Amino acid sequence: MNVMANDLSRLVPGARGFLEREHRLLIGGEWVRSASSETFEVIDPSSGQVLTKVPRGNADDIDRAVKAAHAALNDPAWRDMQPSDRERLMHRFADVIEAHAEELGQMEALDVGMPSLIGQFGEVGNVLATLRYMAGWPTKIHGQTLDIGEALPEKRYFSYTRREPVGVVGAIVPWNVPLMIAMWKIAPALATGCTIVLKPSEVTPLGALRLGELAIEAGIPPGVLNIVTGFGADAGTALVAHPLVDKISFTGSVATGKAINKLATDTMKNVTLELGGKSPVLVLDDANLKKAVPAIARGIFGNTGQVCVAGSRLYVQRGIYEQAVEMLSKQARSLKMGPGLHPESQIGPLVSAQHREKVMGYIKAGLEQGAQAVTGGHAIEGPGYYVEPTIFANPSQESKVVQEEIFGPVITAIPFDDLEHGAALANDSIYGLASYVWGTDIQKIHQIIPRIRAGSVFVNSEPFPHPAMPLGGTKQSGIGKDLGEEALNHYTELKSVMIGLN
Ligand code: NAD
Repeated sequence: MNVMANDLSRLVPGARGFLEREHRLLIGGEWVRSASSETFEVIDPSSGQVLTKVPRGNADDIDRAVKAAHAALNDPAWRDMQPSDRERLMHRFADVIEAHAEELGQMEALDVGMPSLIGQFGEVGNVLATLRYMAGWPTKIHGQTLDIGEALPEKRYFSYTRREPVGVVGAIVPWNVPLMIAMWKIAPALATGCTIVLKPSEVTPLGALRLGELAIEAGIPPGVLNIVTGFGADAGTALVAHPLVDKISFTGSVATGKAINKLATDTMKNVTLELGGKSPVLVLDDANLKKAVPAIARGIFGNTGQVCVAGSRLYVQRGIYEQAVEMLSKQARSLKMGPGLHPESQIGPLVSAQHREKVMGYIKAGLEQGAQAVTGGHAIEGPGYYVEPTIFANPSQESKVVQEEIFGPVITAIPFDDLEHGAALANDSIYGLASYVWGTDIQKIHQIIPRIRAGSVFVNSEPFPHPAMPLGGTKQSGIGKDLGEEALNHYTELKSVMIGLN
């Protein structure tokens, strides 16, 4: 494909109109300028061109937003809203988003670089599924009654627990699937009656701002969802440090997660951390390679490898190793690289020049440490940030490309002998986010599932975040879960009530 930059004439009117507007921060239901009036540029990764500018929110803006969220938390309009009305409101929000799905998909194509149809049906599809799934919960959140009997001599009690909103949630999200991950925080917060200050990534802030406009259109009350665009070092840390923020829900890198966890301790916030991964893919010798290989390729090259649960370490049982690597190489070479707005693009550019430099640094390190690039290994010349899908065969298990998260279209392939060996290689990582097993022997599959230390195991499947299935990491991949009923526990506090009866 020779068209490598987005053709902006393909934009639907909603997306074009959004790019032409002056952008502001959403605080207390109003669109306001940042306290400093400073802005920063948003870049199209397919061309390196400036798309628009957004406000550079700082600690003053975070303070205003947190105070608005705190006021909304205690406003009877939100605090006392009937759970069934919260459900209706969340479905209305989903309806409004759905009506703008194409436009949002295009904006993700511009901002992140992903193909717009993947943005529309994959990412925005998941946003809708998550919001509608969580909209089912407000009427079902409950505590327990507990019979504690005569807890003190001759004193009987009626005792129960209730789940209450944790309070003001500071949501800090990354750039790779920004709308989807923002909704993984917003939806459970709305379901449980919390209020939110969302800080999108400085690399991809556009979708969140448009989501804010749609939230207002849907009738989300003022102050319930506040959005402050800005950088991690000022807006991000101010949100984590703010004493009126009760919970931080963070998705991003391990290094930032560690810094946030330390800072949040000062005010003893409730913290959930969804961090990086280096997820293993185990292919057993009875696997159906015709099904496995295309799914493995989608899993690592989809969104140009910028997926936290991407299967980036391939381990294939020795007898079928050569065949699997050859089939995967063929698949990788067939992928059409191009700008997100082009209908034929299957994989887009990396998100930024800085990120391309990081990914190319890893590719160089892989080659220097003796891995063989059977496919790819190069950046594409030109203004956009494209890197070829790359497969490293036979790197050493200790090498950087096997041990560190690259977050690009790079997969390593190593053979293993038996289940014991495969599980040991899979677990030899500081990460424990997702994992994949391909095979047809159900007994072997059941034997290996408990052996893998990871938050998720996908069997004969590519990555698929379902709103009902909790998603989160073990080891350095994080603390707590997004999605599923389990996520609600992270957005509520459990209160124990003991009523003396005599
Ligand atoms: P990042 O950690 O650089 O930034 C994430 C967010 O944190 C951004 O909004 C950034 O502005 C903010 N931030 C940065 N420093 C901060 C600080 N000191 N205090 C407060 N906020 C700060 O991550 P990224 O590069 O945007 O995203 C890629 C990473 O995200 C990868 O490691 C990927 O694996 C991870 N990720 C994890 C999941 C998951 O569910 N586990 C999902 C998607 C991405």
